[in-house]
Amino acid sequence: MIIQLDPQTPSSVKDNIELKAMTLGFKMTEVKTEQGNLYMVGIGKKEFDIRILGQMEGVRDIHRVSDAYKLVSRKWRVHPTIIDLEDGVKIGDGNLQLMAGPCSIESEEQIIQTLEHLKANGVNVMRGGVYKPRSSPYAFRGLGMDGLKMWHTLAASYGIKIITEVMQVSQIEPMLPYIDIFQVGARNMQNFNLLDELGKVDKPVMIKRGMSGSIDELLQCAEYVFSAGNEKLLLCERGIRTYEKAYRNTFDLNSIPILKEKTHLPVIADPSHGIGLRAYVEPMALAAVMAGADGIIYETHQIPEKAFSDGQQTLDFKESKALIQKLNATANLKASF
Ligand code: PEP
Ligand code: MN
Repeated sequence: MIIQLDPQTPSSVKDNIELKAMTLGFKMTEVKTEQGNLYMVGIGKKEFDIRILGQMEGVRDIHRVSDAYKLVSRKWRVHPTIIDLEDGVKIGDGNLQLMAGPCSIESEEQIIQTLEHLKANGVNVMRGGVYKPRSSPYAFRGLGMDGLKMWHTLAASYGIKIITEVMQVSQIEPMLPYIDIFQVGARNMQNFNLLDELGKVDKPVMIKRGMSGSIDELLQCAEYVFSAGNEKLLLCERGIRTYEKAYRNTFDLNSIPILKEKTHLPVIADPSHGIGLRAYVEPMALAAVMAGADGIIYETHQIPEKAFSDGQQTLDFKESKALIQKLNATANLKASF
């Protein structure tokens, strides 16, 4: 159950509602979001007349939500959530949003070349890691805050937004002024301490599906961030690990329409990590648009063979330009149905 309250509700009124809900068999948690909304989330299974609570002082709205996740459920918020990155850049408003860039931020020259490429092709959000989760501790692990600050200055001069991965709680605060979207990587999907802390910031968070994460688990991870106070959330399908060895991950296109049905949050698809093979990023990206993705995030680099990470799944700028044109055409085709 979700009860939405007036944000200014006095504690005595909240206490009354909580007491009443408890007598009806619910355990209540109060959620005040960075975006200025106040909710009470009730966990319990008792059947009751919803009007008992609905008519109480302070209650703006009340919904029954039987899912394990509540605040991210579409059973409650039927309209899709739109993430506003400002300057006219929005995700989830019905237009396909593209986010592209290298796997890792490597150098000033690389950043500028990428920004030029994105600007020339109408892409408003640049991806790239400054903190890289790598399978081997000896692999390149990112330029850290120095790289992020340099990137931020350059990206701002092009009017391009930044999405980048945050790996641990201590990085959140220093990164905050320099990013537009925090990315939670697949390996951190269930890092609940990180999710809790990201709930306390007023910046969008994109959670990538863990390689062994179910759709339901992904939604419950999003619920962590929302219930800790941050409503600005995006989900990302990036492939899961299966027994199939012909490609890097099994890009679960099925999850896209299912997530769209279960949650009001925008759904992004990452075909680069999804299939892990450069030649097939394009068809999988187009398929993800047809499956209903609100945005596509993919890897591109001026010379993929020289990329510090994930070169095998990275498009060069010529391939990236062709993909952007086909993605836009596919989005238009879909909109015409
Ligand atoms: C990435 O986006 O470069 C990345 C590390 O992705 P994932 O967490 O999905 O593996
Ligand atoms: Mn990568």
